[in-house]
Amino acid sequence: MKKVGKWAEETPEQLVRRARRIDRELTETYPDAHCELDFTTPLELLVATILSAQTTDKMVNTVTPRLFAKYPDAAAYASADREEMEAILKPTGFFRAKTNSLLKLGQMLCDEYDGVVPNKLEELVKLPGTGRKTANVVLGNAFGIPGITVDTHFGRLVRRFGWTEETDPVKVEHIIGDLFPKKDWTMLSHRLIFHGRRRCHAKKPACGACPIAHWCPSYGEGPTDPEVAAKLVKA
Ligand code: SF4
Repeated sequence: MKKVGKWAEETPEQLVRRARRIDRELTETYPDAHCELDFTTPLELLVATILSAQTTDKMVNTVTPRLFAKYPDAAAYASADREEMEAILKPTGFFRAKTNSLLKLGQMLCDEYDGVVPNKLEELVKLPGTGRKTANVVLGNAFGIPGITVDTHFGRLVRRFGWTEETDPVKVEHIIGDLFPKKDWTMLSHRLIFHGRRRCHAKKPACGACPIAHWCPSYGEGPTDPEVAAKLVKA
């Protein structure tokens, strides 16, 4: 959103201070913010993130125990029976395309990386089904390499916060990266995604029950009455 009123006067230094103030507040509000996909290895996280396109993490978590048990490594994905995999992935939607991605992913990992998921952005983004967002999720959460995940929540929130008006995810990633120390990027992503899922909803943000309302130029975009807003907050 375009900043108006007192926010329009904000200097770059003030923006950095306000952005970090908001993040500190979100840290207190969501002390348990984390990646909501279940995984134990980089390959499992990569697969789960590919499957999370157009569905919820919760839905992905219902199919991955069976999937991970049946396909424990890249070679297993490469040699999987297409119909069997499609049957497992069906509840996540777009299951044919997702099966295709996983079969090709297994093949490419075996052919080019000895079956091991690489830990470099430029290599991850070349893998089937893996865009920049997925690559950053894997880097940040499986390898401990800081990454900003610009998903639909993250993009919406940074624009509502007036941190940027940019809509291009790659530009957003760089602009927001400049506001925070690199070491904070992964957790910042989790906190914003948590806030987007629980309070700052796309349609009706719970402004009257929002801990950062004081620092948000979009306060009032959703109900400001505390009782009405409280009902919009998701646990
Ligand atoms: S005040 Fe409203 S728009 Fe701003 S962050 Fe909170 S819920 Fe979102």
